[in-house]
Amino acid sequence: MPDRRLTRQISLGDERTGIVKIGGDAPVAVQTMTTSFTHDVESSVAEINRLHAAGADVIRVAVPEKKDTEALPEILARTRVPIVADVHFHFKRALEAVDAGIHKIRLNPGNISDRGQVEAVIDACKDRGIPIRIGVNEGSIIERRDKQMRAKELGQFFSEHRHGQMLALMIAKLEEYLDIFHAKDFYDLAISAKSMDTMLTVDAYTEISKRFDYPLHLGVTHAGPKETGCIRSVTALGSLLQQGIGDTIRISYASDPIHEVEDGNELLFCLGLRERVGAELIACPTCGRLQVDLFELVQEVKRTLQDEIVVPMKVAVMGCVVNGPGEAEGADVAVFAGNQRGIIYVQGQKVANVPENEILDRLRKECQDFEKRVLSGESKLGEKTVDIIPPDPIGDLGSGIEKIRAGLVEKPTIGRT
Ligand code: SF4
Repeated sequence: MPDRRLTRQISLGDERTGIVKIGGDAPVAVQTMTTSFTHDVESSVAEINRLHAAGADVIRVAVPEKKDTEALPEILARTRVPIVADVHFHFKRALEAVDAGIHKIRLNPGNISDRGQVEAVIDACKDRGIPIRIGVNEGSIIERRDKQMRAKELGQFFSEHRHGQMLALMIAKLEEYLDIFHAKDFYDLAISAKSMDTMLTVDAYTEISKRFDYPLHLGVTHAGPKETGCIRSVTALGSLLQQGIGDTIRISYASDPIHEVEDGNELLFCLGLRERVGAELIACPTCGRLQVDLFELVQEVKRTLQDEIVVPMKVAVMGCVVNGPGEAEGADVAVFAGNQRGIIYVQGQKVANVPENEILDRLRKECQDFEKRVLSGESKLGEKTVDIIPPDPIGDLGSGIEKIRAGLVEKPTIGRT
């Protein structure tokens, strides 16, 4: 992983929420956005608290109407995570949100036509020390006639590039916006430059990161349903983060935002940008050897462990004893299923052989007990007392049999023992 690109740092939050820093040497923050009507205080508070508990560091709410900003004081009083007001078209919503004590404003100066109105928002944020994210999303940067004219003028610069004209436009528009903020001596900014095109998103942030030192909020906009949206987002954001670009992320798609938070955190775990909290679930992809309902079992294990386990243990749920042990290499707790039974191992030691309908409860108990031992120092993550190898499909001449004979390895058998 290359070094993170160094950016300015902004801070958001207060005594209630704690301060979340974005940019500089701060860890990459995970964001999402609520789907409740913000003026529905009960739903908004419940959703924000649920998303925060799932691992969101910053949460954005839409404030299209005055009744939405009027709800902010109560929402802020009943939540403990920095909240961003998402403002489009109505600069007064930004001013009202600032008065309500919001922690950050998301503004697209391109859809507030009057420069004086943008300046009024800047003044209000400056007075209260509230940062602003400005976005130059592909779909909203400027109206079409202007777009075509600017594309001709500026496209030369990127003429060899696959997205040359659009990149030139996004950068030119960003410079134009920044001039308004700089003229007011305001630098408490983050930048986003989202596109619905994965590769344009990568290229836009790559070019912007070379030209500006503001922290970057990464995202793919209008990414689609969860299945494709997740892949588009992870492709773009993973590529950028891998290059050291990006200070905060939102994986976005048309689904419950709790999945955006889970996926955003998983991306950071996978890239080594965030220390894992809770169990890391390993599961086999399944094949024709499968003899239990592994899809359902994996989901049940996930649901059960994510609320209970804080230690980053590896838990493997494998469909058979033939390849399961090899595929579960490195797991702290593992179940190998087959023949409507499951055998459970903890760090290489067999601890149970149970019928299918008892697998979940027993696995849960073993994970809880193992966590207690790790927390008390009795066990260490990632250690094994004995290797496990699969049964030898070709008899005594097969690999590993000498080790089995010598008692150096455990040979799992799925029958009742
Ligand atoms: S663990 Fe067994 S069931 Fe699962 S993919 Fe591997 S061989 Fe197939």
